[in-house]
Amino acid sequence: MQHIAFIGLGNMGAPMAHNLLRAGYRLSVYDLSAAAMDALATAGAHRAATAADAVREADIVISMLPANEHVRDLYLGAGRVLECAPLHALLIDCSTIAADVAKEVSDAAAARGFAMLDAPVSGGTAGAAAGTLTFIVGGDDAALDRARAVLGAMGKNIFHAGAAGAGQVTKICNNMLLGVLMAGTAEALNLGVAHGLDPKVLSDIMAKSSGRNWALELYNPWPGVMETAPASRGYSGGFGSALMLKDLGLAEQAALGAHAATPMGSLARQLYQLHQQGGHGQLDFSSILQLFQAPSR
Ligand code: NAD
Repeated sequence: MQHIAFIGLGNMGAPMAHNLLRAGYRLSVYDLSAAAMDALATAGAHRAATAADAVREADIVISMLPANEHVRDLYLGAGRVLECAPLHALLIDCSTIAADVAKEVSDAAAARGFAMLDAPVSGGTAGAAAGTLTFIVGGDDAALDRARAVLGAMGKNIFHAGAAGAGQVTKICNNMLLGVLMAGTAEALNLGVAHGLDPKVLSDIMAKSSGRNWALELYNPWPGVMETAPASRGYSGGFGSALMLKDLGLAEQAALGAHAATPMGSLARQLYQLHQQGGHGQLDFSSILQLFQAPSR
């Protein structure tokens, strides 16, 4: 069985790595958090002392890190992946980062002889746990063909968006829309409840009407409306507001680069910026609802 090095065992990476173990892959893991590594080691993964150690004998390297700087450092830093992984290793970065950084890292990998894919995901922590993620891939066909089996162990849809960086552009378009939808859904629910409506009844009606959307139906931001949503567990776990703010910033940079108008995305970014300044960056992104609620609630 192929040997996979998995770097970044957070809300997404940990359940993805568990699914690879379940599928029978040999796994070496590395994360800055000892607790995150303990959980994977207990499940059968090899606990590497450094990222370099994790990748030294890998056939496939998968990274699931927060942002640009982490990915750039992991692959391009001195003594890091491009210097330590065997040349036959396929490199797959699943983090959501800027397309130009994905391209920079992929170009550097190619210059050394590595095949690399940007493969950001959609589906959230629930999709990661269930192994039903959607992978949105940028890179060449041959590399994607090599990646299909391992991606299939963590997800159920694999889309080829285009060349290196195209996965990230596609992902950022999706997440800009998600940020807009979540803020709009929270705003609508707050308006209805301020008029005395029951948030569950209001949600059920809108879910069968023209306002229906993913945030409303599958990730409802009002606590108690949906048992399984982060809103019903104090906005813990899930997709952090700080990460959504990061993605909306990536969308704005991408818009600037292409001279594209994205006023709704910009407004959503401002709302998440205010939310972050209120000290809520670590709460799930559906907690943007709190920005609309009266302080007494
Ligand atoms: P997270 O903050 O929960 O996890 C990140 C992990 O990376 C942490 O465990 C951290 O310790 C580790 N880490 C940071 N720097 C490191 C380094 N230098 N070496 C090793 N480990 C390091 O983040 P997450 O929610 O798992 O998200 C990861 C990526 O996936 C982000 O780019 C995010 O935008 C994207 N994403 C998240 C979701 C979601 O629902 N959470 C959904 C889709 C995409």
